[in-house]
Amino acid sequence: MDNLTIQQALDMGIQALKNHSDSAKTDAETLLCDVLHCNRTKLIVDANYILTSEQACLWQEYLQQRIQGRPVSYIIGHQDFWTLSLDVNESTLIPRPETELLVELTLDLTVADNSCCLDLGTGTGAIALAIASERKGWQVTGCDRITEAVQLAAHNQRKNHVENARFLVSHWFSALGEQAFDVIVTNPPYVESDSAYLTQGDLRFEPGSALTSGEDGLDDIRLIIPQARQHLKSDGWLLIEHGFKQANAIQELFADAGYEQIQTRQDCAGHDRVTFAQFKLHNPL
Ligand code: GLN
Repeated sequence: MDNLTIQQALDMGIQALKNHSDSAKTDAETLLCDVLHCNRTKLIVDANYILTSEQACLWQEYLQQRIQGRPVSYIIGHQDFWTLSLDVNESTLIPRPETELLVELTLDLTVADNSCCLDLGTGTGAIALAIASERKGWQVTGCDRITEAVQLAAHNQRKNHVENARFLVSHWFSALGEQAFDVIVTNPPYVESDSAYLTQGDLRFEPGSALTSGEDGLDDIRLIIPQARQHLKSDGWLLIEHGFKQANAIQELFADAGYEQIQTRQDCAGHDRVTFAQFKLHNPL
């Protein structure tokens, strides 16, 4: 395709994607910015710029992948989260905007300036790195069962110049020995294993192990809540992201395990999204 201007490429992209994506315009803009290594402003101010043949070729290639359903973030290989630019690949979930609530709530906690924080199932490292970047005095550990995810998180740490974080392979607490933390955060898998939602859109391309957790989606959370007691310092907090219908069940699990100050917060769409609670050592089970 010769002599394609930015404007023509965009129009063509939106047209090509409109039956395949709910966000055809944004997708086309994001993909084209990546092809041209530019920001959205250039797409407007340089609308008559003519793509080189390599750029036009890559543009076609990107559109084909998106038409087949591949998530935009996997096509371009990165996703913004909080203030960070994170590389992503098929070994991890793509960081979601609603997960920023987990970061905000963690930053709102009244804890020591030199707190130790653990991010369970860190994936790209999104949560751990966002927290570490905002709390330079904290030591943040991110762990994941998947070696490739741990490597990706460590890469994202270097990419974003975050010093006070470390990443290790661990299936939940399995590699953590006796270590205890002031704060534990997690965005575990929580989708019901037979959910129709898994067969739609971007989720078809994301790792099932990061999404589903048994029939009611709570299998992993049922393990994490009691086990976290062994890895929280007294007065430490556990914060869990979950599905919008799971708040009651999770509040009960926290109560059964003897936690206090149990509370749920809503994401920007108004859905129950994070439940958290405090562990006090005086509270034997
Ligand atoms: N919040 C994600 C979604 O609904 C699921 C992520 C997860 O299971 N942790 O797409």
